[in-house]
Amino acid sequence: MADCIFCKIVKGEIPSFKVYEDDTVFAFADINPISDGHTLIIPKKHAENIWEIPADDLAAIHRASKKVAAALKSSLNLDGVAVLQLNGRGVNQVVMHYHLHLIPHISGNPKFFMTDWELKPGNMDVIRKNAEKIASAIAA
Ligand SMILES: [Zn+2]
Repeated sequence: MADCIFCKIVKGEIPSFKVYEDDTVFAFADINPISDGHTLIIPKKHAENIWEIPADDLAAIHRASKKVAAALKSSLNLDGVAVLQLNGRGVNQVVMHYHLHLIPHISGNPKFFMTDWELKPGNMDVIRKNAEKIASAIAA
C-alpha cells in the first residue's frame, strides 16, 4: 500500500534498524520500544491483520520469530520474551500492516503490565458456551 509506513520500510523508503530479512519477511527494531531489543517482524507483502494475511506469510513470520527469539536470548540479558500481535483498533493496533512484536524482558526489570494479570476462575457455563460457539464457527 502506497501510504503504509511498514510497506515503505520494506522498500527502504523509510530507514529502519534491520535485524533479519528473507524472501517473505522483514524484522526491525521498534522505535517506540517497550524494552531493549523490542523487535517487529512483518510480511513484505501488505496485509492488515490476521484475517487478511495469507497462511504461508503467517507461517513465515512465526518461523522467523524462532530465529529472532534465539538471537534475542543470546545477545541480551533477558529472562523472557513476550510475543504479542494485535489485530484491530479495539486492541490498539496502530500501524495497519500485520506485525508480530518480540518484546524481551530484561532480567531485573519490572514485569510487563500485559503479562502480569491476576488469574481468576471464570464462569464455566459462559466459558463452555463461548467455546462451543467458536468451535462451530471454525472454518474447515
Ligand atoms: Zn503495508
